[in-house]
Amino acid sequence: MTSNLTAISQSGAVQLSAAEHKIDPADIDDGAMQVVETLHSAGYEVFLVGGCVRDLLLNHRPKDFDVASNATPEQIHELFRRSRIIGRRFRIVHVRHRREIIEVSTFRRALEQEDISTAHSRKDLSGKDSAQSSKGVMLRDNAYGSLNDDVYRRDFTVNALYYDPLSEILIDWVSGVQDLQAGILRIIGDAEQRYREDPGRILRAVRFSAKLDFTLDEDSAQAIYNTGDLIGELSPARLFDELTKMFLSGHAEKIWSLFEHYELSPLLFPSVGSDQKMVIAALQSTDLRVRQEKPVTPGFIYGVLLWSAYQRRTAQYSGEMRPGQARDTAAAEVIAEQQGNISIPRRFTQFIRDVWKLQTRLENRLPKNIEKSLADRRFRAAYDFMLMRCAASEQPQELADWWTRIQEVDKEAQDEMINALPSRTRSDKTEGRKKRRRRRRKKPGEA
Ligand code: ATP
Ligand code: MG
Repeated sequence: MTSNLTAISQSGAVQLSAAEHKIDPADIDDGAMQVVETLHSAGYEVFLVGGCVRDLLLNHRPKDFDVASNATPEQIHELFRRSRIIGRRFRIVHVRHRREIIEVSTFRRALEQEDISTAHSRKDLSGKDSAQSSKGVMLRDNAYGSLNDDVYRRDFTVNALYYDPLSEILIDWVSGVQDLQAGILRIIGDAEQRYREDPGRILRAVRFSAKLDFTLDEDSAQAIYNTGDLIGELSPARLFDELTKMFLSGHAEKIWSLFEHYELSPLLFPSVGSDQKMVIAALQSTDLRVRQEKPVTPGFIYGVLLWSAYQRRTAQYSGEMRPGQARDTAAAEVIAEQQGNISIPRRFTQFIRDVWKLQTRLENRLPKNIEKSLADRRFRAAYDFMLMRCAASEQPQELADWWTRIQEVDKEAQDEMINALPSRTRSDKTEGRKKRRRRRRKKPGEA
């Protein structure tokens, strides 16, 4: 039929016709279709692959379309005026079509068993190099190969289905269709080895099983216990990217329960203890907001994840510093410690500090600060944060209700609410002064 399919017919791969796989070509977006047609016309093999094929088969709307071809990045780049070669770990081509970006990758081969155990850095036959760290973690992966090779370097069987939208034939080398129908997420090849090559796959396993509501097959699941600590090998920037994708996927609560199940949360977030009520409340609320298409920010989630550590640390310093200083020091330290494994960009760490700072003001409800708090650009986020704390019974629900009400009423009623505040509300400045005085008095006695 097409040149794409000549090699495949000898390989033992299963081919499914349109009548069997039932993918509707109308569901494939124009940009991806054009990329396929252009590469095909230039004589290259080309397929849709990965999440889009998986999602088309599941009747989900693909988030984006990935294309795989035997053309090299340079050859692809030459064919598309609006394209550029990106990536270090994987060199791929981004082709722009109107406002969307289509990712086109070149067929690659997976590293073989002996490579994993012996090679440190090597040249392969095509002259491109692959490299691994001493722990077997893949650093670069630019060893080009054939379509048949490309299948085995992919992560899961359901992500390794190839669809040729021109012939409408689906090619399955790894029983991916069967797994897809059974709702099974299965690593291709030896699970432990594949996680060692790229510990990011551990997080992908968790993300896809939550997102697709698939069960991880037994080997793929078991191997996580043996390799989970390799997550620490991932760069803090990649870890932030992967985790953000997970937290904002709309399935964050499920993902967290899987982190717990696979004993990954202590590795990722060592400061989160066993009391996770607030974390879970925040993830539930994030999932709801994603479903309602409301804005969500990773800053909020990290703010919640680090909150208990921040409070413990603040308490620890409160004997030796003014409360404001104790809080600032605690915030700086707790955030810096988390940055050791997950690099949270500055705009989010600033957000976290702002929201934490506002918590004190929302708790104290000093009459002179109420208006200022309401007008603060972070008020909305800080208020939502307070709701989480109340949901986790860390603060009385009455406090959240008060802040809810004051936003709903007119100025006059606001003043009434403020005047009715119990007078015992004390400024933390006063508390601070008291503490310092007490300490100063001690000194002469010690000396
Ligand atoms: P999503 O719906 O999140 O886009 P996806 O499966 O398309 O899911 P991508 O990150 O877009 O995920 O990757 C596209 C494809 O590339 C995957 O389906 C998989 O075949 C392959 N892939 C991506 N990351 C890896 C990895 N770390 N190891 C092996 N294969 C990978
Ligand atoms: Mg994708």
